[in-house]
Amino acid sequence: MHHFNYRDEELYCEDVPVRTIAEEVGTPFYLYSHATLLKHFRAFDGAFGDIRHLTCFSMKSNSNLAIIRLFAREGGGVDIVSGGELFRALRAGVDPKKIVYSGVGKRAEDLEYALESDILMFNAESEQEIGLLNDLAGKLGKKAPVAIRVNPDIDPQTHPYISTGLRENKFGIDINRSLEEYTTAAGLSHLRVNGVSCHIGSQLTQVAPFVEAMKKLLELIGRLKEAGVEIRYLDLGGGLGITYDREQPPHPEEYGRAIKEHLNTGDVTLILEPGRVIAGNAGILVTRVLYTKSTSEDKRFVIVDAAMNDLMRPSLYGAYHGIQPVSLGGKESIKADIVGPICESGDFFAKDRDVKPFEPGELMALMSAGAYGFSMSSNYNSRPRVAEVMVRGDRYYVIRARETYEDLIRGEVIPDFLKEGRKAL
Ligand SMILES: *Cc1c(COP(=O)(O)O)cnc(C)c1O
Repeated sequence: MHHFNYRDEELYCEDVPVRTIAEEVGTPFYLYSHATLLKHFRAFDGAFGDIRHLTCFSMKSNSNLAIIRLFAREGGGVDIVSGGELFRALRAGVDPKKIVYSGVGKRAEDLEYALESDILMFNAESEQEIGLLNDLAGKLGKKAPVAIRVNPDIDPQTHPYISTGLRENKFGIDINRSLEEYTTAAGLSHLRVNGVSCHIGSQLTQVAPFVEAMKKLLELIGRLKEAGVEIRYLDLGGGLGITYDREQPPHPEEYGRAIKEHLNTGDVTLILEPGRVIAGNAGILVTRVLYTKSTSEDKRFVIVDAAMNDLMRPSLYGAYHGIQPVSLGGKESIKADIVGPICESGDFFAKDRDVKPFEPGELMALMSAGAYGFSMSSNYNSRPRVAEVMVRGDRYYVIRARETYEDLIRGEVIPDFLKEGRKAL
């Protein structure tokens, strides 16, 4: 459910016509609905309302300060994967005691930054990382709170690029070897080993793999207890899917119920790291049609001003995004490829899609773009990153200005030896 709906054939975000924003802000731009973000956060968090838990929004899905602040005000924390995300989280006003730090390749300076910030927990993913964290904590006179991210070897039945909980994936430590890692870690003097974590993948459309992972984690917690390691936090990661096309993922309520049914250890706090399920359908990418053309009888292209650098998911995973006109028209649909201006054949948003016969100048919405949209965008082809806008009721707010050409070259330097005029030929 979201607040992008048609009124009199015009697409609105809450009570604001998308066209009005496009005219004032220019295209392309990301557009988020405040009411939708809030509703999704509350639905998810509320599904666990009656047990001790912490909802740590996955910042890599959308790291805009305004959006992070919105969830922080709801009592949420964040799951970070870099020092940069920690910086953003702190700037957005997230309580450090609600920050968990995941990632298979954390750098020493980022670990130090997180130690100094007194975050809730490090989800460590290798023996070497555990060793380094212990050393750094010792140097800073701290005791680092640690969970080991275990790999439960569960097939989440999703796209291979976003499947993370299989033994063949790079993430975590094999659950069957983890007891050994735990006992080693528990013996290190600058660590406080008190969590178990996993994240099995993204865009899951079934509850069963989560429950399976949960059971394995609980079993591990039991064995750790016997070995004298007390676990306080069970971090189940993120991964609940959304409807992009025809998927029918479980509602957060159903997901919550299934998890709670199996959570029998009353003294652990459950940590959840949802990203996509909260932000995905709360945002769209608005773009303008530049040209249309046909290369043969039956091959038509609609060329728009957004490109793969702005929304990478179709190029990266062949992901599906709904295509909707900002103004509905009565005309019969055509089959077309929706493509961007970048010099790569991979620069497409949809292939052979039934769409209205768009004309140059028309506005188009790429749906379900609120997660892994802007946060994955780049400056490829020297395209300034687009603006981000949030609507709340009948007002809109630019929450990230469109980059300028000056922004594009910030930090670039022409060394002196190249400044001495032109070489004579
Ligand atoms: C990406 C990621 C998430 C969020 O995944 P979603 O599918 O967006 O919910 C949570 N935890 C970790 C460790 C991740 O890498």
